[in-house]
Amino acid sequence: MTETVLSIVPDMEVPDFLVREIQAKLAYVDEAITSARVSPGVEGIELSLNGPADKTTTERLSAKVNHLVEAMADGAFEPRLSVLEDYLDRPTSFAADPMDELYKSREVVREGSGYYILGPLLSALIDFFAERVVDAANQFGAKPYRFPALISPGYLERVKYFSNFPHSLSFVTHLREDMEVIEKFSEDGCCKDGLVHAADGSYGDPDAMLSPTVCHHLYMSLTDSVLPEEGLIATAEGNCFRYESTNMASLERLWNFTMREIIFVGSADFVGEGLEKARDMMRQTLDDMALAYKVESATDPFFIGNYRDQAAYQSAFELKHEVRALLPFKGDTIAVGSYNRHKDFFGRSLNIKQADGEFAETGCIGFGFERLAFAFICQHGFDPNSWPDAPSAHYRRLSEGWHSNNAPDYGDVPSF
Ligand code: ATP
Ligand code: ZN
Ligand code: MG
Repeated sequence: MTETVLSIVPDMEVPDFLVREIQAKLAYVDEAITSARVSPGVEGIELSLNGPADKTTTERLSAKVNHLVEAMADGAFEPRLSVLEDYLDRPTSFAADPMDELYKSREVVREGSGYYILGPLLSALIDFFAERVVDAANQFGAKPYRFPALISPGYLERVKYFSNFPHSLSFVTHLREDMEVIEKFSEDGCCKDGLVHAADGSYGDPDAMLSPTVCHHLYMSLTDSVLPEEGLIATAEGNCFRYESTNMASLERLWNFTMREIIFVGSADFVGEGLEKARDMMRQTLDDMALAYKVESATDPFFIGNYRDQAAYQSAFELKHEVRALLPFKGDTIAVGSYNRHKDFFGRSLNIKQADGEFAETGCIGFGFERLAFAFICQHGFDPNSWPDAPSAHYRRLSEGWHSNNAPDYGDVPSF
């Protein structure tokens, strides 16, 4: 396939504060786009394409890119960025991109686009961090929950996930209950280039979705309920699925990742105080990991057409703060966790009431384990002996109990 590059200067300038968001959204603009680079101001947008940039393609892409930029930038105002914590100058001991090394040792194995197997080193590191979040949850007296990887489409529609994040949804279906369809698939069904091929009409409409986040399940379980006077604090760990298209590369942005959340449901003060206290607790753990990071206000990656208003609302009320860890090899940061307030959005949508009859407010903290582990390795490398004390000791303790500390012989460099 011929790879070509197409430069487009949109009619409307891309403001600095929208460069990251517009760049991420370009992945969803057209299937011909394999990657994009956005420069602020009049410099324009550079698209890599999986085919020729002929006249029709150029016209089509120009129109779509202009639509995207206008939908996001027209009338947008620069969000007020507030930085709550800044430890970005904490010393780090590693500076390279670790992915090649992680692939070579099969510490990371790519199963498919956006989903990876993690080996013992990363798993032990995640175990260290996961325990700390559980400790924090226990200090709150949070009740444990277990949630499925599937989530009800009716629920996601009800809480506006369909309209706010349609680009990242993951649909689940199965063969229709029809003997002929099933027999045909058993004979002819095949997988080619990672795609499943079945005869037309083999699948029904999706009747489940893959869950994009953890806390939604708790809110669903509270539909039409009245909270106890003292509110509710819960914790759960779960698989999350967000289709991030061509932005899925390395462990930074996955289709399937795992997260533990601590979730607060009750009055505005209860939720606000809970989130503040949780941030204090997490600061200690991030310090023990010697992580270079900052905590700053942020917005969610809403769909193109909904972005401006939803993001403006979140920003005006400072509803979201992200823990952004340094990736030294890129000179950039990435969100490894977030503190989120939803005001009474879920309370109203699902009829969850406080004991006094007001709609309940909700909020959560969530840390993505793969991202956190990746950022840590980017900052402190692969050798647990040179890690900061707390994660290093945890690794030692775990690995002493392993049947063997030798790795299989993987032969030549694998082609994952
Ligand atoms: P981003 O700003 O990077 O798109 P987000 O704002 O969508 O992330 P949240 O919804 O706040 O992220 O999710 C909480 C945490 O889940 C993130 O801080 C991150 O650690 C993790 N996370 C979110 N999306 C992904 C992903 N695609 N791959 C891996 N981890 C993710
Ligand atoms: Zn949540
Ligand atoms: Mg974000």
